[in-house]
Amino acid sequence: MSMDVTFLGTGAAYPSPTRGASALVLRCEGECWLFDCGEGTQTQLMKSQLKAGRITKIFITHLHGDHFFGLPGLLCTISLQSGSVVTKQPIEIYGPAGLRDFIWRTMELSHTELVFPYVVHELVPTADQCPTEELKEFTDVNKTDSLPKEGQGRTILLDSEENSYLLVDDEQFVVKAFRLFHRIPSFGFSVVEKKRPGKLNAQKLKDLGKWFSFFFFFSYQL
Ligand SMILES: [Zn+2]
Repeated sequence: MSMDVTFLGTGAAYPSPTRGASALVLRCEGECWLFDCGEGTQTQLMKSQLKAGRITKIFITHLHGDHFFGLPGLLCTISLQSGSVVTKQPIEIYGPAGLRDFIWRTMELSHTELVFPYVVHELVPTADQCPTEELKEFTDVNKTDSLPKEGQGRTILLDSEENSYLLVDDEQFVVKAFRLFHRIPSFGFSVVEKKRPGKLNAQKLKDLGKWFSFFFFFSYQL
């Protein structure tokens, strides 16, 4: 499988005209996975060969602004570019607890109606992951007011035996999050491609087997 990584921003909290806030894209088989979405990520995407409409998953490491303030604008732009009929799978967004509330509030306050479906899966940090005063409790927004395109996301707890959070486990990939220790709850992500056995053409092998047997017999007779 061909995979490549594009760094859209490495300027962290000090972006400049030539260096964006944190964001990178992992591209594999036509899909784009976005890791962090600092302010200006959508314009960085426009400067690259990547297409924002190809983003299927978004992973946010932590809720410092330079890592996710670009998210509402990017979602709005993808929505504007999507046309009126959208049948695609939901965009899956993973990040620390509080991210669902943030997206809901920004969309609600700006009267934005996204045309595509999305879900936010929240990772629950552990108490020892940052200084006590930085660990916030988030009460979920009123679910009766959930946005029309918002699906039911998961609340993901630490698997203490594996010391990780299992985010994705499909036929192609295993994606896990790991706790990072920063001033606020933060996560790193690992993407592991599963081994895929090659496809064997059983009939062709049988035919080849006969041919090799015949060849061996014929050689032996000579
Ligand atoms: Zn930070």
